[in-house]
Amino acid sequence: MKKLTHALLFLLFSYSSLAQSSSYLLLADRVFDGEAMHDGWAVVVSGDRIMAVGPREKVAVPKGATTIQYNNATITPGLIEGHSHLLLYPYNITDWDTQVLKESDSYRTARATVHARNTLMAGFTTARDLGTEGAGYSDVALKRAINEGIIPGPRLMVAGRAIVSTGSYGPKGYDNDMSIMLGAEPADGNDLIRVVRDQIGKGADFIKIYADYRWGIQGEDQPSFTLDELKLINEVTRSSGRVMVCHAKSREAIRRAVLAGAETIEHGDFIDLETGKLMKEHNVTYIPTIAAVDQITQYRGWKKGTAPDPANIINKKNSFRAAIQSGVAIGMGGDVGVFPHGENVLELELMVEYGLPVMDALRACTSVNARAFHLDQQFGFLKDGFKADVVVVSGDPGRNISDLRKVKFVMKDGVVYRKEN
Ligand SMILES: [Zn+2]
Repeated sequence: MKKLTHALLFLLFSYSSLAQSSSYLLLADRVFDGEAMHDGWAVVVSGDRIMAVGPREKVAVPKGATTIQYNNATITPGLIEGHSHLLLYPYNITDWDTQVLKESDSYRTARATVHARNTLMAGFTTARDLGTEGAGYSDVALKRAINEGIIPGPRLMVAGRAIVSTGSYGPKGYDNDMSIMLGAEPADGNDLIRVVRDQIGKGADFIKIYADYRWGIQGEDQPSFTLDELKLINEVTRSSGRVMVCHAKSREAIRRAVLAGAETIEHGDFIDLETGKLMKEHNVTYIPTIAAVDQITQYRGWKKGTAPDPANIINKKNSFRAAIQSGVAIGMGGDVGVFPHGENVLELELMVEYGLPVMDALRACTSVNARAFHLDQQFGFLKDGFKADVVVVSGDPGRNISDLRKVKFVMKDGVVYRKEN
């Protein structure tokens, strides 16, 4: 049945660009505009733009507009996933080493086309993808195929291969006589200049750095680059008009990344109040990836809800609370790929479970992410003149974040990709 639905959605997509009317009046019980919830508002779309957002009786509706109305429903901006890996799929199906080492880039890309479609159908019209993990620049090609309308998927911002320091990254544990391909590109010192430029030349929209990795003596997270190396990466990246973003779990790696000019900190498993404040001071956005920690721990046997929280879950909860307390901007990104694409809302559910007010979770996946990724002049809000990325869900996600799973309608750039009764 699920397969059939996907086939129908694909058919719908195939002729959608021909059959669609160009203006719409969208009606539901309430509108979340990216910042606040408004009862009785309506959204008007014409072509690929939002023409009006406001009280139903005040918005001007163009002649011939198609009315789309849902009862007991909420209209939101197209959601923005802040940390995906479209070239990966859940590790409880196939472990990471096997995906990286044994699966060809073409096989992985074939899978990624399905992941992209599932992401869009879940209401995520934009996604920032944080590295192909051994699949080269397949993300650049995937983005192109989506932009050209060949396959349905979210608008993508992609990292390409990402950069790690020599010796730090996996796959690990193979005989040293064998040369093993890695999940990202190793570089150090002055060679970082060449590698950053090479990644930019091959299509990276931003540069993703692993500022630490679990390569400490006890397997703990330790910084992988020096502060000077990070500064060098940032300088070369910035001069091309792009930004550096950093995987960083430990406090020292976060500190170096922030001081070097990183725009977002990914994971941040050991944030304390002081670290959170430093991030805030430097206008950095925190992307927590709670779902990855939660899911991997469950894949390893943790019986959530029955067994007590293991140490890594306790750390993650403490870190997230410290981040909230510090006032740092908290965006949304789940490291989806570790868990199924299309289940992106799991991250938001966990953010709420870990103490974030539900309206802040809604802002995280819309306006906060839009600002963090410099998209806030076109996306992440329902505002006059913005791009027509619009989602309708049943219920009220401003009260129950899980209602974001009940997607009824998805529009990207004014094109309808999903429309349920
Ligand atoms: Zn990731």
